[in-house]
Amino acid sequence: MIPYGKHSVDEADIQAVVEVLQNQFLTQGQQVPAFEQRLCEYTGASGAVACNSGTSGLHLACLAAGVTVGDLVWTVPNSFAASANAARYCGADVDFIDIDPITRNLSVEALAQKLQQAKKRGRLPKAIVVVHFAGSSCDMNAIAQLTAPYDILLIEDAAHALGGKDKDGHRVGACHYSAMTVTSFHPVKSITTAEGGVVFTNDPYYESQLRLYASHGITKAPKSLPEGHENEPWFYAQQSLGFNYRLSDLHAALGLAQIQRIDTFIAKRLEKAKRYHKALSSLAVKRPVLDENSAWHLYMIEVVPAHRTRIFNALRDQGIGVNVHYIPIHLHPYYQSLGFSLGDFPHSEQYYNGAITLPLFPDLSVKDQDTVIATLGEVLK
Ligand SMILES: *Cc1c(COP(=O)(O)O)cnc(C)c1O
Repeated sequence: MIPYGKHSVDEADIQAVVEVLQNQFLTQGQQVPAFEQRLCEYTGASGAVACNSGTSGLHLACLAAGVTVGDLVWTVPNSFAASANAARYCGADVDFIDIDPITRNLSVEALAQKLQQAKKRGRLPKAIVVVHFAGSSCDMNAIAQLTAPYDILLIEDAAHALGGKDKDGHRVGACHYSAMTVTSFHPVKSITTAEGGVVFTNDPYYESQLRLYASHGITKAPKSLPEGHENEPWFYAQQSLGFNYRLSDLHAALGLAQIQRIDTFIAKRLEKAKRYHKALSSLAVKRPVLDENSAWHLYMIEVVPAHRTRIFNALRDQGIGVNVHYIPIHLHPYYQSLGFSLGDFPHSEQYYNGAITLPLFPDLSVKDQDTVIATLGEVLK
């Protein structure tokens, strides 16, 4: 089976991890700070807080933003459930903004309308979790302009997008328009630490909150401690109810080795996306917009919804490991139990009904990609 996504691990990656195992701290050593610094250099963000998954990163971002019971957080239905779950962990209510059928990203028009309605009803969101679907950046400039009058915090879910750029050429992770940006290092993503994630921010307050919540809410920083413990080197204080969301040094060592190759990975993804774009032009499928700034996490086509299941299963039967991204979040039973129903976000639903994700990853060979293209052509006949 040709998988839809796959990590690329080489000998240098393996050696980096083995070295930590042989010589160093397994956790809370020097690898994590070094990885964080490298991530800042790469993106241009001033702060990066590594954590043990993209999901914990989203939770940390919501915590640092002060999202709590009674607050409202918006995101899009066309994403992994974690984009919405993070706000639920904080006890907030979640609502969704529909997508644009062309970009498959948050629709700026839908956002403008929803903001008008929310203003009339007197309940605006505290934060919006913006998702850069498949690695292609949302129109951050337009989103930031729309939300600016309302003091709404923007959190970027860039789990697909590390290594990409926004429309104005800012590196994803730079937080040019947002308070915080979260990404994931799961094996199918731009680079991997096995499990892992990071939250970027340019705001020292958010950075300190992120660090606090990622480590039990505990601090040893002298300035944050109550007075009278100057001669007690063992002393620490739990300031808030935090979590253990730390990344280990083993994982960070893998990340440090991987990030050296990120631009090569993204270039290979773009090259393969271009090959698909050209080869599929004559087939009866809707292709994604060929965004040269995208990190090309996924390559999704749309087929006639009535034929999707047949086409998908035929491809799987022929050894093509296709997938579907995403079942709209509001259609999961958990979100239905919160009051959402079929028909609430028609563009996300319509997109889902025809969507098929084709294999795309840095080491996908020309031969395997040609097999995918040829098999798709056969199956569509
Ligand atoms: C992968 C992913 C996450 C979660 O990342 P994990 O590291 O798997 O927890 C969140 N949002 C999106 C859009 C993702 O694709």
